[in-house]
Amino acid sequence: MRLGGLLDLSTIDFPGKLCSVVFLTGCPFRCPYCHNHELVNSKGVEVSPERVASELSENYLIDGVCITGGEPTMQNDLVELLRELKERSLSVKLDTNGYYPERLEKLVELVDYVAIDFKTSPRKYGSLTSKRDAWDKVEESLKLLNESGILWEIRMTVVPSLVWEDELKEIADTIRKAGIEADRIVLQQFSNENPLDPSLKSVNPPTKQELFELAEFFNGAGGAGEGRTYVRCSEGEFRV
Ligand code: SF4
Repeated sequence: MRLGGLLDLSTIDFPGKLCSVVFLTGCPFRCPYCHNHELVNSKGVEVSPERVASELSENYLIDGVCITGGEPTMQNDLVELLRELKERSLSVKLDTNGYYPERLEKLVELVDYVAIDFKTSPRKYGSLTSKRDAWDKVEESLKLLNESGILWEIRMTVVPSLVWEDELKEIADTIRKAGIEADRIVLQQFSNENPLDPSLKSVNPPTKQELFELAEFFNGAGGAGEGRTYVRCSEGEFRV
């Protein structure tokens, strides 16, 4: 598998767990606010899933592993890594953009938690991600997770002028009409430190207060049930 990096310890990447984070390279999307685009375009270092799992299992501080990217489900041997981690009794959270529902379906039974991105309103999905069929695929993944019984969250990156009230309203409508009920819905703060589109460097990230207001707006539009919406920003994660 193509490894882009490994973070030994994180308290914020897996709800309720101390985890390591595995970054895998490659991604079919080109989101303008992507701050991991070095991973998206990199080949990374080729390593065996067994080697990654065995290194992780030597870290006695963790009880979980977050697998992220890039888009981790692009890697054919991800399933092998998940099996290796299960054998070592490590809980696994998988981050995905949802573009590969057929792959996700095979992986769901091997993970404990999935975080899927809901990047923008369905009608803007193609232009934001640069993949015309993006929404159809993501919609399939959302339905799959909704019926899976696994713990899962929907994440939205809030970017002024790109993903704001209009888009959040349409996302809320879509979620409500499709009967989608994720365990958590997270509005996360965009970072302007290293975006793929350099013009976003001059865009200020939303403040914690703005994120709270947008989360309440999202709830008011029927996007999430009571107590399931969170705000994630540089100051931490807060239930709205
Ligand atoms: S934000 Fe995520 S889905 Fe979008 S290009 Fe970056 S890694 Fe891919």
